[in-house]
Amino acid sequence: MSSSGFDCDALIIGGGLVGSVLATAFSRAKLRTVLIEARDPKELGQASFDDRSVALANGSQRILDGLGLWEALVSDAEPIRSIHISERGRFGVSRILATEEGVPALGYTLENRVLTNAIWTDLSGEKYFTCIAPAQLKKITWNADAVKANVSLADGNQTITGRLLVAADGARSSVRKALSIDMMEEKYSQNAVVLNIKTEVHHNGRAFERFATDGPLALLPLSRSRTAVVWTRPEEELGRLMSLDEIAFRDELQDAFGHRLGKLTRIGARSSYPLARVRSKQRVGDRAVLVGNAAVSLHPVAGQAFNVALRDVAVLTEIINEERASQGLQADIGGSELLARYDELRRNDQRRVAAFTHALIRLFSYRGSPVAITRALGLMAFDLMPGAKAQLARHTMGLAGRLPRLARGLRLA
Ligand SMILES: Cc1cc2nc3c(=O)[nH]c(=O)nc-3n(C[C@H](O)[C@H](O)[C@H](O)COP(=O)(O)OP(=O)(O)OC[C@H]3O[C@@H](n4cnc5c(N)ncnc54)[C@H](O)[C@@H]3O)c2cc1C
Repeated sequence: MSSSGFDCDALIIGGGLVGSVLATAFSRAKLRTVLIEARDPKELGQASFDDRSVALANGSQRILDGLGLWEALVSDAEPIRSIHISERGRFGVSRILATEEGVPALGYTLENRVLTNAIWTDLSGEKYFTCIAPAQLKKITWNADAVKANVSLADGNQTITGRLLVAADGARSSVRKALSIDMMEEKYSQNAVVLNIKTEVHHNGRAFERFATDGPLALLPLSRSRTAVVWTRPEEELGRLMSLDEIAFRDELQDAFGHRLGKLTRIGARSSYPLARVRSKQRVGDRAVLVGNAAVSLHPVAGQAFNVALRDVAVLTEIINEERASQGLQADIGGSELLARYDELRRNDQRRVAAFTHALIRLFSYRGSPVAITRALGLMAFDLMPGAKAQLARHTMGLAGRLPRLARGLRLA
């Protein structure tokens, strides 16, 4: 333990995408950070055609750039130049174009592995950062001005003391449980079938969101002329779909998507994820903040969960930075006032995105014809109303509302 009586300023539990990027942001802000992760972060495995990817909003790109990570990512990031929204079997189509929004790209598609690799390579040279992994969280205890985490490693137990605890340990967060914070879970009875494909016609930066009553189908432009597919299917159909041979699966996917990219010429390996909306009842607890899937886990239809989490990371780091600028290094970064401020700043964005994503799923899953006609008309009207479309585009790009410094393209002060 250091002379300050703390092993670190911030203690992050969970080193997935969100915990690790938060560790980068904290390290940039010169916060002594300890991250505890159950897996060995070095075990990334080999890159492959089939790697899963994430759609990063324009605002997220700025955050990663502000953290100094974008340079390592840019050559693998595929720009999304347009989003084409339609509904299967109905008239009405809408397009959001980067050129109309005055941005070079609406967002970028990037493989999770590339992002993870860049973050961990960067963290390995950070003097404010320590990783304890593979390790399991055993117990958390509190006193007036500190939080203590007891963890078990291959060679015994260790206790780490910090001022702020961050739960970045995923949707089934054990930190959330230890904080006695309840969660709400709505299962969608759907699974996301995820794979990468190649097509006869190059995507040219086009993303497609195709709604159908039994689940949306999203195609995202990916590097090396690939297209990433996230196909939402009803639970009862999953077994059959996953066991189809490649040709039968390709024919079904082709039928569901149509021929906007010509024939599907290569079909990658499929993986599947059960879908649910999980929301923590509180964003903050005793000396603690919940981020990423531990705070809110969403249906991937709108590709928003990680983007929201990046804004959480940017806001939390910014207000801690401000606190230290005014109070000095002894500032209590886990104090209740600071946490209440974070809670207030993040409430609206998190709620709005969670509600929007949920509404999309519900709206497009009704089979009744009046609703279907309204939906189709809505899509057409939406295309003719530049104001409404521009607003949605700004939300989708992560550029709406009060933005933290990093999302405005500024470095941390
Ligand atoms: C199919 C699919 C497509 C998606 N597409 C998009 C998209 O396009 N855009 C977007 O913004 N989002 C997308 N998302 C969401 C995005 O993947 C998640 O928001 C993000 O991965 C959440 O990361 P996390 O770090 O919060 O959680 P996790 O990835 O669950 O990481 C939690 C980490 O905590 C560790 N851990 C857990 N318990 C402990 C413990 N007790 N001790 C130590 N360590 C522990 C785990 O090992 C893990 O590494 C998608 C999700 C899915 C399923």
